[in-house]
Amino acid sequence: MRELQQRIQRIEYDIQSTCDRIGRNRLEITVVAVTKEVSTARASAVMDSGIIHLGENRPEVLLDKQVIIQDEAIWHFIGNVQSRKVKEFINKIDYLHSVDRMSIVKEIHKRSNQTLDCFLQVNVSGEMSKSGVTPAELASFIKEVGAYDKVRIIGLMTMAPLSGDKDLIRTIFRSLRELRDEISALKLLHAPCTQLSMGMSNDFIIAIEEGATHLRIGTALVGAESEGEA
Ligand SMILES: *Cc1c(COP(=O)(O)O)cnc(C)c1O
Repeated sequence: MRELQQRIQRIEYDIQSTCDRIGRNRLEITVVAVTKEVSTARASAVMDSGIIHLGENRPEVLLDKQVIIQDEAIWHFIGNVQSRKVKEFINKIDYLHSVDRMSIVKEIHKRSNQTLDCFLQVNVSGEMSKSGVTPAELASFIKEVGAYDKVRIIGLMTMAPLSGDKDLIRTIFRSLRELRDEISALKLLHAPCTQLSMGMSNDFIIAIEEGATHLRIGTALVGAESEGEA
């Protein structure tokens, strides 16, 4: 797994040097290794390399990996949430990055044994294909979440468009940060909203520059099994 260690070192170098260049503290940033495309063995190797935050986007796959890796890892669910599946995994994860509608908030409230730290997914770019609440409905949505105390909104999450347009990506990340600042200024107990989950393999440097606290990095960090690296 030398190739894996090299990838991890290279990403860590990029993160640290970006932080140094812009005067951010590296410790403000959590790297979530998105292991959805790789085997449990490789996810274990990621853990052994010192990254303990793992991200998955399908409940079954997360649960399968968990049986082997168990609770040494901190589990982030980053995928689309289906209502009928919430009960299967909601008590097995540490963070949910993809709360995108009120019916999911209600289902979590019903099924969760304790308060869950969640990110609210925001569709900043307004692409039809993307889920998430719109910036216009964000504040009222978050206030409504207050009625469901199993859901704590610790931050906002977004996905930038698949685009080579770095200015566009930056604009979207910056908008998410501004929205985060507006919500956190409300000082809501159920929604401290201090965190920003943004930045993937192709855009994590821009995300750091724009204030990301959680990077969700898949291929650049762990590779993809299809590349024959398992
Ligand atoms: C797959 C995925 C990622 C990681 O994507 P990479 O481009 O492989 O880094 C991040 N966030 C979400 C929501 C994803 O589904």
